[in-house]
Amino acid sequence: MKRSTVDREKLSPMMAQYMELKDKYEDCIVFYRLGDFYEMFFEDAITASRELELTLTGKNAGLDERVPMCGVPHHAYASYIDTLIEKGYKVAIAEQLEDPKTAKGTVKRDVIQVVTKGTRLDNNLDSKNNNYIANIYDFDYCKGISYTDVSTGEFFCELLEKDNEDIIREIVKQGFKELIVSDNIDRELINTLRVNYGILITITKDIYEDYEYEYIYKDIEDIRLQTTIKHLLHYVLDAKKGDLHHLKKCEIIKKNQTLLFDNNTKRNLELVETIRSRDRQYSLLWLLDKCKTAMGSRYLKNQIENPITNKKELERRYSFVEKISTEFIIRDDLRTVLDEVYDLERLAGRISYGNLNARDLLQLKRSLKALPKIKTLLENLEYDKTIETLDEVTLLLEKTIKEDPPLSLKEGSIIKDGYNSELDELRSISSGSKDFILNIEKEEKERTGIKNLKVGFNKIFGYYIEVSKGQKHLVKDEYGYERRQTLANCERFITPELKEKENIILGAEEKIINLEYKLFMDIREFVKRYISKIQEISKIISEVDMLQAFSIVSDDNKFVKPNLVDTHELKLIECRHPVVEKVIKDKYVSNDIIMDKNTNILLITGPNMAGKSTYMRQCAITVIMAQIGCFVPCKSATMPIFDKIFTRIGASDDLVSGESTFMVEMKEANYAISEATENSLILFDELGRGTATYDGMSLAQAILEYIHDKIKAKTMFSTHYHELTVLENNLKNLKNVHVSAQEEDGQITFLHKVKSGSVDKSYGINVASLAKLPKELIKRSEEILNIYEKDNIKQETFTQTSLFEFNTEEVKEEEKTNEIEEEIKAINPLEMTPIDALKFLYDLKQKIEK
Ligand code: ADP
Ligand code: MG
Repeated sequence: MKRSTVDREKLSPMMAQYMELKDKYEDCIVFYRLGDFYEMFFEDAITASRELELTLTGKNAGLDERVPMCGVPHHAYASYIDTLIEKGYKVAIAEQLEDPKTAKGTVKRDVIQVVTKGTRLDNNLDSKNNNYIANIYDFDYCKGISYTDVSTGEFFCELLEKDNEDIIREIVKQGFKELIVSDNIDRELINTLRVNYGILITITKDIYEDYEYEYIYKDIEDIRLQTTIKHLLHYVLDAKKGDLHHLKKCEIIKKNQTLLFDNNTKRNLELVETIRSRDRQYSLLWLLDKCKTAMGSRYLKNQIENPITNKKELERRYSFVEKISTEFIIRDDLRTVLDEVYDLERLAGRISYGNLNARDLLQLKRSLKALPKIKTLLENLEYDKTIETLDEVTLLLEKTIKEDPPLSLKEGSIIKDGYNSELDELRSISSGSKDFILNIEKEEKERTGIKNLKVGFNKIFGYYIEVSKGQKHLVKDEYGYERRQTLANCERFITPELKEKENIILGAEEKIINLEYKLFMDIREFVKRYISKIQEISKIISEVDMLQAFSIVSDDNKFVKPNLVDTHELKLIECRHPVVEKVIKDKYVSNDIIMDKNTNILLITGPNMAGKSTYMRQCAITVIMAQIGCFVPCKSATMPIFDKIFTRIGASDDLVSGESTFMVEMKEANYAISEATENSLILFDELGRGTATYDGMSLAQAILEYIHDKIKAKTMFSTHYHELTVLENNLKNLKNVHVSAQEEDGQITFLHKVKSGSVDKSYGINVASLAKLPKELIKRSEEILNIYEKDNIKQETFTQTSLFEFNTEEVKEEEKTNEIEEEIKAINPLEMTPIDALKFLYDLKQKIEK
């Protein structure tokens, strides 16, 4: 049965209310609260029962047929919602707004919150990652982009005057979970993002037009930026429907302050996850993340994805890292206290929104208690920022919140004794009466002589006196017992005295729960005033935590402080790939990477598996480490500050967009050469191998020449076209280097050592034999290679005619021997008569003499 075809006139009042609500939340699955359950109906029920493996049943709603329905218990709804959200759905939670016991007619219900992937601020969020929701507002000639992490309050915006491809690049790199777009946007762009990258997208026109949250954008002058922010704000506020004053003032992203690279580079360099398994383990982030707090880890990830270009700031970070390393005892203390600090940033979000419980406030208290110590340690380290300690908040929380409060706020046991006299009084009444009741059991036993008489409690009858069947006859009228319940083996009674005490207890308990709830809310309101201060503290702690991690990692792995220079000189002495080194330890062979003022391009040759790709990657990784303020995996490092990094590494097809390797390669190459400046770093790993040899080689050469003459970016270019190494003679800023290997009896050993000059052999077959291909196959390939190598000489020289001279005589000579060799190969002596063989030999000799 479809919702759209239902005759609404016939519906029961409850279902009519549901329909009206659902109309407003067409694109959400509506969780509709009915007593102890959240129920879903119609198509929502069908989808949810499938996705959540729930039983699909039906509900009478006044129609001829029952309406499809499924439900989840209200106390367990969070995990069901999580599952739906992870699968890309949006969930609207419709609550009962009045107490069903006292409500007249149908209980009022409304949606209190829409939960979506990008707007979460619950405590099940992955603590090591930011959770961004973004907006793209299309102004035809340019696009406004804004994004926020609702859980932490961070808010950013920028303008992009770029085509769809660049927009996609940007969106994908930032890893946005959810996108809100203006309704005039290019549908093709939206489709690509939705289908190829699985981003949840909502198209709306609505713009925020109120004053309450104006502070977020009012200092931003550009109206277009304001528009994208307001567009995003409308969606977020409408979904959360609560207090979001922890959202910070929006910051404009300044591209020239960050080291830019795209998502492919992020992947290729395995910055935050590995390419194959998409695991954090063995990524650069994994290596560097010795942070103690979730905030530190998130900040570090953020920095790795967006390194900076400000020399002063980088040097400030280096000197603090150095300082922490020298003061390693203070560092130990600092690490120990940072352990006490919880996720303040996200706590601030939940304080503001209100979805926090007493345990969250305990976490806040423990974190705040660590601040004075942190403050002192930072002073000792001469750190240039100070943190406020918020003693009055700590004090209040210390006085009020019990050490082991329940998760729910509606059970009491939250507030400590001695904070509120009314509460203390109610508690003593309640517990006094409880003692009284316990006494009754003793007294009644004595009075009646019934040995196994018990006093018990259940929700239906309250307190009762229980007498077993065997002793029932001992109950006399004069005791004043009133029978309430007869069970198989006992009878239950009440007395007026018992009920009187019960009223006091239950009355007091209800009052206690209500009062504790109110006190909790007051405390929350008090803490709320400190949200922006808590956010400032979080920011400092994130940075300090990251820098202490750098100090630890740098000490453990012998990293050195980079020397940043304003000239175009890159000199990395004994540089290593920090992650590979971590795995293979001292087997790692360090290498120098030297590109002085007069060297912009390193042309790298060497056999497969020699370490070319690793050599290139370690250069980029070193640059990135330097530009987040970390020390670098070298013996010494002199380097300029780079503005952008471009990479084309590996020949994997772009599975997502379904383009061929070669097409992807060329697009990437184009992206690099159109965007790179002389301050950029380009890594091209075996560019051109996705097409026929001569196409590939020619393109590679042309690209090298172009970079050499026009762009002048520092470039590492590995190739297996040995023919390209002659370029060194013509391109004055290009230098050949090769990764050496040793061959002995056909066995190859990789030395992984980079040396100047080029190699003339690719050892492909040796490598193949290492891979244990069948012996006869290897042998045959050696034969074929021999032919090719001879053949090649003529073509090789041909491709170089335009650039280099060659000797025509030599070529002819070669051609002839080849012909003869071919002829010999073509015959089978065993099948020839002696006469034929003699004639063949005679002919050959004639040919040679000619
Ligand atoms: P290529 O790109 O030349 O085919 P790779 O860079 O992929 O070679 O490296 C092949 C393997 O050699 C890597 O898996 C790595 O384990 C090892 N390797 C690379 N460089 C080094 C090095 N400098 N020291 C030790 N082992 C290395
Ligand atoms: Mg390689």
